[in-house]
Amino acid sequence: MIELPLSVDFTGKVVVVTGAGGVLCGEMARAFAQAGAKVAALDLNEEAVKKLSGTCRAEGLVCEGYKADVLDPEALAEVHAQVCRTLGPCDILINGAGGNNPRATTDNEYQHEAKPGQKTFFDLDTNGVDFVFKLNFQGTLLPTQAFARDMVKRGSGCILNISSMNAYTPLTKIPAYSGAKAAISNFTQWLATYFAGTGIRCNAIAPGFLVSNQNRKLLFNEDGTPTPRTAKILAGTPMGRFVESNELLGGVFFLCDDRAASAITGVVLPIDAGFAAYSGV
Ligand code: NAD
Repeated sequence: MIELPLSVDFTGKVVVVTGAGGVLCGEMARAFAQAGAKVAALDLNEEAVKKLSGTCRAEGLVCEGYKADVLDPEALAEVHAQVCRTLGPCDILINGAGGNNPRATTDNEYQHEAKPGQKTFFDLDTNGVDFVFKLNFQGTLLPTQAFARDMVKRGSGCILNISSMNAYTPLTKIPAYSGAKAAISNFTQWLATYFAGTGIRCNAIAPGFLVSNQNRKLLFNEDGTPTPRTAKILAGTPMGRFVESNELLGGVFFLCDDRAASAITGVVLPIDAGFAAYSGV
């Protein structure tokens, strides 16, 4: 009999998910709990992770919510200790906290189209740029420092980072977020190499275009009609549609499964309805 590589079963695994108060990682946290894992849901937004934990418990699943700032090493050390006490050492770390900031976003795609009063590249707020780089890059590095030490001791573990389409080719208006996610793809390869001899694998997913809290205003006008940016995205996506959040789960489970992806480390998996593959012609 050939042992089939794919069946979703994370029974007993301790899965730590940062940014679990948000749309995508909240769904991932719940899905891991549903697949048998003991989930630690971390977020700056305590109310959101407590709500997620309550929903999971009502379904008979194991999911604890923790308030944690991914940029605060002391808070992470404290949460790490709590997770170890309550659930056990971390087997799988999902570095999900991340995002853009309006202060690091231009109003126009091209300088030559900027109208008086609009925010151009020259008006970008360096504090906003710092915020975005710090949240995405250090917000991945610091939780990895907090939770991967136990993996090194045990000689196994899995880290999954969240990159983006803008890491391959920058998207207009969002230079800092594009650069920060490119750094995440790069850091994923660095971590994969660094930890290769320890039994830890590190990969990333690069979600394509989803409609979510952080980009809704760029994609739809207040009256719900699509913006010109939406038309461009769909024209650049061979499958001609947005990605649904639950379509990320197959890739996430696959990369985090030590049997299915035992020899896979350092990859960034696009889940993008073809966007990254298409030149536009
Ligand atoms: P979201 O805004 O719904 O969730 C992000 C969560 O991170 C929020 O709950 C927020 O409270 C939390 N957070 C922010 N700063 C934090 C901090 N310092 N410490 C702890 N938690 C903090 O975003 P989402 O759409 O679910 O995105 C999740 C991840 O996927 C992010 O890394 C994002 O950059 C990435 N991503 C999203 C898309 C998309 O289209 N939504 C596409 C590609 C990549």
